[in-house]
Amino acid sequence: MNLNTSILKYIEDVKSGTFTVEEFTAATLQRIKDVDGDVHAYLSLNDSAINDAKIIDKKISSGEKIGRGYGFPISIKDNICITGTKTTCASKILENFIAPYTSTVVNRLQNEDVVITGKTNLDEFAMGLTTEFSAFGPTKNPWNLKYVPGGSSGGSAASVAANECLASLGSDTGGSVRNPASFCSVVGLKPTYGLISRYGLISYANSIEQIGPMTKTVKDSAFLLNIIAGQDANDDTTINNNNVNYLENIEDGIEDKRIGIIKEMTIDGLSSEVATATKDAIKDFESLGASCDEVTLPTIPYTVAAYYTITSTEAGSNLARYDNIRYGYELESEGYEYNSYISKSRTKFGPEVTRRIILGGFVPSAGYAGKYFLKALKVKSKLTSEVNKAFENFDYLIAPTTPVQPFRFGEKIDDPVTLMLLDYNTVTANLTGKPAISVPYRVVNGLPIGMQIMGNSLEEKSLLQSAYALESKTNLPAVPL
Ligand code: GLN
Repeated sequence: MNLNTSILKYIEDVKSGTFTVEEFTAATLQRIKDVDGDVHAYLSLNDSAINDAKIIDKKISSGEKIGRGYGFPISIKDNICITGTKTTCASKILENFIAPYTSTVVNRLQNEDVVITGKTNLDEFAMGLTTEFSAFGPTKNPWNLKYVPGGSSGGSAASVAANECLASLGSDTGGSVRNPASFCSVVGLKPTYGLISRYGLISYANSIEQIGPMTKTVKDSAFLLNIIAGQDANDDTTINNNNVNYLENIEDGIEDKRIGIIKEMTIDGLSSEVATATKDAIKDFESLGASCDEVTLPTIPYTVAAYYTITSTEAGSNLARYDNIRYGYELESEGYEYNSYISKSRTKFGPEVTRRIILGGFVPSAGYAGKYFLKALKVKSKLTSEVNKAFENFDYLIAPTTPVQPFRFGEKIDDPVTLMLLDYNTVTANLTGKPAISVPYRVVNGLPIGMQIMGNSLEEKSLLQSAYALESKTNLPAVPL
């Protein structure tokens, strides 16, 4: 059974009877057994996956109405809730937390007959970009197990790249879908803020984060977006997308489109491999009939600082609920007075989350808010007007997704500022709410490089057309694992 296939090809094969949903699910579970001891993409598996597959097969054979998914296997980042399953956020503090309700995205998927394989690893509470901050051990990059898979949705990206499922859902606050997509050579889309419901996503920084599809192909990304996008009564920030069909006309191409190459993201700090790939991508875009010109967005150098100021503030507030009374792990409660009980409980947070909580308490506090938090909000609005202005002249804004290729475990973990700077090319889309996609573009020295394309708000359809066009220019090797 070839597990290295797209969702769309899988559906064709199930429809034509090449294999059953149960056979494909069984092969996927076997693959997980074979490789996940090394990769560690999953934190937990869905025990009823085979059963779910059998039910879908029965629907198909009896001619019952069948959902659009035809039982394709999908993994879900472990900060997205599914009733009755563990949702840990890769944190000790939620080690035994069983979600009491299902997120809108998973509901929509289940209504379309998918098979959920399991929950995937992440940096604790989605804070990080290597998965080294998972309390349950890191995920390895399937391209080379000595290298990080990116993060925070590293488990999601690795599960797709290692053929342990056909797609995954991640969450992207500052690059967490696109960064691991780039590091693992999968397609990762961060949609316009509000396009996808966050109901049932455990919040990190509500005002800028979005759930996004991670897939093997651009068409699969559009297919998944068709299922999960759109307004939701349970999330007031969602937008009516008029049921756009993102797959329709995806092959239309980018003839005469205007592309802005973001100067601040392509001049300094790129590795030579990434810089060369970027030049090649520009040539590819031109050969597809688009025009490419440099565009400067002068606020970009301030974005990483603004991003961490805003997100830590929101995180500090969101994480205040983990007092070990409402959720949490077992701690002998006898003999503690209230404050020391809470303090003791909260020592279970890992180092990165603790850093964010401390920062998030300080930057918006009385006497400092003007200097830090409010200034960060000003950066956000200045950046947004610069980007909006750029979209008056350009259809797309491009840059490499990450300035460097994947690196070895342990290489940067003790240097939080260097790590944070690796978000340089991704946070702009979050701070401005714009959609952005990472497309697998090159494999150099055995390690992937992804190109990022940013579009204007709610222009996912056009964005996916450009991503499909770029993808058609690539011919990448299969993962060696
Ligand atoms: N690396 C960024 C952070 O740690 C992005 C994380 C994310 O997008 N969830 O905040």
